[in-house]
Amino acid sequence: MNSVQQGVILTARFLTSASGLADAPRDRIAEVAFVGRSNVGKSSVLNRIAGARKLARTSKTPGRTQLFNYFDLDAGGRLVDLPGYGYAKVPVRVSAIWQKRVSAYVCKRAELRGLVLVMDARHPFRESDLKMIEACSSAGLPFLALLNKSDKLSRGERFRCVQKSRETLASLGYSADDLISFSAHTGEGANVACIWIRQRLDAQMDTR
Ligand code: GDP
Repeated sequence: MNSVQQGVILTARFLTSASGLADAPRDRIAEVAFVGRSNVGKSSVLNRIAGARKLARTSKTPGRTQLFNYFDLDAGGRLVDLPGYGYAKVPVRVSAIWQKRVSAYVCKRAELRGLVLVMDARHPFRESDLKMIEACSSAGLPFLALLNKSDKLSRGERFRCVQKSRETLASLGYSADDLISFSAHTGEGANVACIWIRQRLDAQMDTR
């Protein structure tokens, strides 16, 4: 089957894991990172976008879930799966430390060209998501927000959810184009996300 029809136009392979900025790869390859609260479907989104089931399973391997996992794209550039935040089973204090590590990466990692923020369409813009947007804003880093699991909403609900979320983004000074409805299950939004990622990876350093 045509891979674009399936919503998969990126192929990637696992490169390495790191614990944060200090031991991240130093070969200066452009990166797009994925962030999101635990259980929003970040792994499923990665599978859908990069077309390799193995990919996100790698990130979920015990011991790697709190690491930054790097995947090289065949067409050049790199995807980084950042640790999910907001795990119910983890004490708030520990969770806050993880989130700080992720924010520091977003603010300081020179190789980053963009961030894909995965949210559950039914509960978007939780406090931790807003903090991530704030980090992007202060770093001048473009982001694409995905309202994942949109297949769980009716057509009308989906429309209202996108409208409301775009209003939220506008109130924060962002454009409506920075957010799309997405479903890792049906592939809705996957092509748009793939194209956005490719454009960000191909962007010149000084456009950040
Ligand atoms: P992560 O913790 O953010 O990596 O989330 P996972 O990818 O493991 O997904 C958490 C749960 O949500 C799993 O049961 C997935 O099957 C489900 N899920 C993920 N994406 C979607 C989606 O687009 N639609 C629906 N209906 N379920 C999804």
